[in-house]
Amino acid sequence: MTVAAPPLFAFDSSYVRELGGLYEPWQAVPAPAPRLLALNEELATELGVDPNALRSPDRVAVLAGNAMPEGASPVAQAYAGHQFGAYSPRLGDGRALLLGEVVDVHGRRRDIHLKGSGRTPFARGGDGKAAVGPMLREYLIGEGMHALGIPTTRALAVVATGDTVARETLLPGAVLTRVAASHVRVGTFEYAARGGDPALVWRLADHVIARHHPDASEADNPYLALFERVVDVQASLVADWMLVGFIHGVMNTDNMTISGETIDYGPCAFMDAFDPSTVFSSIDYAGRYAYGNQPQIARWNLARLAETLLPLFDADTDRAAAAATEVLQSFPDRFQRYWSKGMQAKLGLAQGQEGDGALIDDLLALLRAQRVDYTSFFRALSAAVLGDATSTRALFAEPSAFDGWAERWRARLSSERVDFGAVAEAMNGVNPVYIPRNHLVEEALAAATAGDMAPFNRLLDVLVHPFDERPGLERYSEPAPLGFGEYRTFCGT
Ligand code: AMP
Ligand code: MG
Repeated sequence: MTVAAPPLFAFDSSYVRELGGLYEPWQAVPAPAPRLLALNEELATELGVDPNALRSPDRVAVLAGNAMPEGASPVAQAYAGHQFGAYSPRLGDGRALLLGEVVDVHGRRRDIHLKGSGRTPFARGGDGKAAVGPMLREYLIGEGMHALGIPTTRALAVVATGDTVARETLLPGAVLTRVAASHVRVGTFEYAARGGDPALVWRLADHVIARHHPDASEADNPYLALFERVVDVQASLVADWMLVGFIHGVMNTDNMTISGETIDYGPCAFMDAFDPSTVFSSIDYAGRYAYGNQPQIARWNLARLAETLLPLFDADTDRAAAAATEVLQSFPDRFQRYWSKGMQAKLGLAQGQEGDGALIDDLLALLRAQRVDYTSFFRALSAAVLGDATSTRALFAEPSAFDGWAERWRARLSSERVDFGAVAEAMNGVNPVYIPRNHLVEEALAAATAGDMAPFNRLLDVLVHPFDERPGLERYSEPAPLGFGEYRTFCGT
């Protein structure tokens, strides 16, 4: 039983209005003893909600799924998806609900969504629940990504349910309130295109054009333009990930958005030592979603999206396929452009020049060969610009190899005749000191699971200012201690 609560959000739910056939109306399973663990005050304000009011018991009840806010139209969204390459025709929100959409103070439409709110018609064998640790993990890493300037869904709150969740052990349960530009995924298109109603995929395409890529509507072929925009935002997003050493970990088509936001922080993690073959997920035996495979996988997923849109591109199947192929083939170049531009900035180079590609490739080969900590290296490099390479050299087992590269890099920098002080400062604005390092995240989540939120709150405070080096926070910038061992992450936690 859910009870009425006073108005909280001014809902306007276009998804529910326009996309019948792509959801099931549903209610949350009430939590026995809701308790607010984390609240994103900045995001609440952005959504036009008074953060203090969200702390009152009747509002926490909303964030737990125990009370439906006025105007909400809770639904479980339907989607399909290719998981590790294999197609599942019916996935959907097995443990989540879309409460509705609000237009934020900047005029942006955002989904308000509960994750961990009980079984739905899409739950299959799942229990519909989520544990405190993984939901706080999504909060922490999502906010870290946002602070790094990377498009992402965000956490508004995590509420402990007072319930227990059976995983490998019994864990405290939680509900995450997730905010997203939308939850429409490549998998939503796969579901719509194969559901037997040919009109549905057209309606879905029109919905996302209006919502995420409105300029596509002006193009000669709006649906092809939509596809081109999605290819572009994904090329940009994956380049962003690669530039900070982020490994998503489960790039199934149901975990890839049409908006270009990062979604689903299950088995993701940041790489320490640079190695493109890095995999953290416990079930990714073949390394399909390894760091270095991410651009290729994004392209593969976009091919799955193109397949659902072919009838919209052109009534003639050959022409439709040719048009789709041409756009899809632009992915590697787009990715390369975003990546190169980002790498140039990381290296302090204002403009691209011929030979930069080799400079970057040689550096990455060096980092890989000597297993250098990726984040520490780039951050240390700004001191090297100013003539002090001590901390950078210290990251190499054999610094002489770095010295050779650094000589070329310095010559290249000098060719731009810029003020080195300004270059170092600009580099510090793109090369973070603090990222959600695996050992720090685990430490914070273990404490939170045992009831102590202090380490989580401290780490969150560090991660939301990733570029500002602060005295006393040295341990937050260091790689995992040797004793931390090999890191493993898990899906469906
Ligand atoms: P994910 O790995 O989180 O992207 O989830 C893949 C699919 O499994 C989605 O359809 C989820 O809704 C569903 N799912 C994951 N965990 C659970 C759970 N505990 N209960 C019900 N459904 C779940
Ligand atoms: Mg998912």
